[in-house]
Amino acid sequence: MKELSSEVMGPAPGKVNRCWLCPRTLEGENVTGEHVIPSAIGGHKEVFKFICRTCNSTRGTSWEAEVARQFLWFSSAAGVKRGRGGTHPDLKVQTASGEKLRLQSDTVLVLDEPEVKVNDLGDKLEITIRTNNPKTALNLINKVARDHPGFDVQKAVREMSTQDSYLDSPLALSFRYGGPDAGRSMVKSCLALLSETGAKPKDCARALRYLEDPSPDAPPPFWLFFDADVVADRPQDHLYHCVSVVGQPKHRRILGYVEFFNFARILVRIGEDYEGEAFQATYAVDPVDGRELAITIDFDRVPPNLDDIKMPKEPPQMYFDAFQTTGNIVNANNRDRVRAHAVSKAATDALRAIGLDPAAEDVPAELKDQWQNEFLNRLKPYIWSQLRRPPE
Ligand SMILES: [Zn+2]
Repeated sequence: MKELSSEVMGPAPGKVNRCWLCPRTLEGENVTGEHVIPSAIGGHKEVFKFICRTCNSTRGTSWEAEVARQFLWFSSAAGVKRGRGGTHPDLKVQTASGEKLRLQSDTVLVLDEPEVKVNDLGDKLEITIRTNNPKTALNLINKVARDHPGFDVQKAVREMSTQDSYLDSPLALSFRYGGPDAGRSMVKSCLALLSETGAKPKDCARALRYLEDPSPDAPPPFWLFFDADVVADRPQDHLYHCVSVVGQPKHRRILGYVEFFNFARILVRIGEDYEGEAFQATYAVDPVDGRELAITIDFDRVPPNLDDIKMPKEPPQMYFDAFQTTGNIVNANNRDRVRAHAVSKAATDALRAIGLDPAAEDVPAELKDQWQNEFLNRLKPYIWSQLRRPPE
């Protein structure tokens, strides 16, 4: 049997569309929405005339899982909402001083492993437990009791007090993007957007060859692109992703540009020998609030001859600058959320401490002073953490 190549696939005449990655037609059960940018990192736009349900759930899913993994820190720390209500998995991180933590999907950092310190003072035991979970704390108290006969568990539980703590050492992050799976997902983003422009798969042969070749050594049709900044109106104060595709008959090519989280950028050589109409399509989104953005991608800033694009051994300064900008935006988002969380938690804990329903809206006048004391006491760890911070 003759193998179908991408050249004979693509929308057939008439109204039946074919999957861009296999010979199946896109009709009935086979039709599925494909996210142009993976929903795990905050993409919303879906296309329906691109790939079939099978290709979506086999290849697409594993490629996108790698994108989700590579950008998990940014998605979690910035509070990106996953599509369809899912939550991000926890991410293990470490501070510069070596403390192991987990970043939860609610953007709260917790200890990766609970910590128990028992200080035998001769006539009494002093126990310090660090954990984010009251149940774990109780289990650990019981364990201490087994090791120390005579330890009064009931009394310890009665006298137990809890305190929030904040980082006093910066997180140590290492980061890289790209590679065979995430690279394929980013190339696929371009093709998904192209499926809406009327471009034909035969004009996208180079990118499709890459997606169809499962070998990890298949030559990637893209560059990590920092030769020029093609984003004409680059957002500086919020996160964004964008995918843009352009048909340039004057250069006989179709190009794609993908940027995630303001810094992870690739330029894709999608197809050569392009002789159709000039066109451009762009999708850009703020992954935190899901807002679609109008962003101008200027492909005239790409060298006319793609062979002139340099692949530097070391990441160029533009990469570090972009990474720094993203870090600043994520930190600012994170600071606001940590503050809001600390204040609301201190307020409800204080209500509980004075015997009121934590959902109570009003504090009776005679309890106001007491509530305020409890509130400020509980807010202290947060206030101290802010005072320790270097000024911004
Ligand atoms: Zn398919």
